[in-house]
Amino acid sequence: MDLTYSAEDEQFRSDLRAWLRAHLAELRDLPKSPTAALQASRDWQRKLYDAGYVGLAWPRECGGRAAPPTQQVIFGEECARSGAPPLINAIGLNILGPALITHGSVEQKQRFLPRILRAEDLWCQGFSEPGAGSDLAALRTRAEVEGDCLVVTGQKVWTSLGPVADWCFLLVRTSSDGPPQHGITYVLMDMRSPGVQVVPIRQITGKTHFSELFLESVRIPLDNVVGEIGGGWSVAKSTLSAERSGLAGVVELERSLARLSKLAQRAGRIGDPVVRQRLAQLHIEKDVLKYTGYRVLTAQMRGAPPGPESSFGKLAASEFRKQIMETAMELLGPHAVLGRGDPGAADRGRWPGLYLDARAYSIGGGTSEVMRNIIAERTLGLPKSY
Ligand SMILES: Cc1cc2nc3c(=O)[nH]c(=O)nc-3n(C[C@H](O)[C@H](O)[C@H](O)COP(=O)(O)OP(=O)(O)OC[C@H]3O[C@@H](n4cnc5c(N)ncnc54)[C@H](O)[C@@H]3O)c2cc1C
Repeated sequence: MDLTYSAEDEQFRSDLRAWLRAHLAELRDLPKSPTAALQASRDWQRKLYDAGYVGLAWPRECGGRAAPPTQQVIFGEECARSGAPPLINAIGLNILGPALITHGSVEQKQRFLPRILRAEDLWCQGFSEPGAGSDLAALRTRAEVEGDCLVVTGQKVWTSLGPVADWCFLLVRTSSDGPPQHGITYVLMDMRSPGVQVVPIRQITGKTHFSELFLESVRIPLDNVVGEIGGGWSVAKSTLSAERSGLAGVVELERSLARLSKLAQRAGRIGDPVVRQRLAQLHIEKDVLKYTGYRVLTAQMRGAPPGPESSFGKLAASEFRKQIMETAMELLGPHAVLGRGDPGAADRGRWPGLYLDARAYSIGGGTSEVMRNIIAERTLGLPKSY
């Protein structure tokens, strides 16, 4: 495992840090209305892109910087450290972009990639359905070829950014013959097409981060099929394996852990041996996550494909997040119910929302149970679960 960054990486870090220091102040008075806030988020990504910080890992011919994976990690670390907002088009950049770069036609790359980088098109992912989540190949949204279009009817669910996205990359079933993985097609859909209905889902946090998507005879040009008709599963697999290093997430969790220690101090519980032991355990687990992240990064730098460590990273980080938030709730005691805007709330009422939100991390992008299955089968060599 390599624990050092090159001189070039360190220079990149200090340039980026200076850039963020100079530009983050502009975000202090962000507009309150949802439409203006969305535009401000698009503008922020555009500004980062113009400065050369978006699409770091993408090849130059696709508008990227062909930077080493370490610089993508440093970007995530510095953004988390400085409290910069996440990139609004992360789904387009991290999930669709790599799949289009590998499987898209020349026209698709030219048309879509620059607009993803500049946040001109916001993308959402239409994979999950009411009967297809962990078992994604069970999806039933149907599509038939009619002339030069695919005509799509069905339902998607948990579509993040659905209420604001301009485009959606969808998995649809074009054939029911053979194994369920066969006959799946990967297609790009304009969210303003006739027959698309977006119904926001209100979450336990009160936010409407995602939506249901009802599709009724939606006509999508065949030019928007990525790869072959019926060959979408291999595109989807490469989409799902567009792994993100867990290291940026670790910095964010590190900040939460530091806030948790301060909370324990303010609550007068820092001398309590049970609380001290709990905090020490959380610090140990944070370091385990960090060094596992470095192992994944070192392997990536040597050209190895993502291994089971990334499933471990996903599982451990989401369970770790829940432990931090649960400890905060215990420290807050009856004050735990006071959220943003409530008089007397600790830390400006940040903890209840974070506690509720933490649940989502162990479901989205593959549940903790599914991650455990992957580790059991691929790392420990145990028999398949089904
Ligand atoms: C915050 C968030 C954002 C999301 N964004 C998107 C999005 O943008 N686009 C999109 O398409 N989807 C999105 N999803 C959906 C997500 O991919 C699914 O929720 C996830 O894959 C689980 O599927 P499911 O909800 O259908 O649960 P199921 O697969 O039905 O699982 C139900 C329970 O059974 C367990 N289980 C299932 N199979 C097994 C097994 N083989 N062994 C052991 N236990 C098992 C699961 O762990 C879970 O506890 C999002 C989800 C969340 C939470």
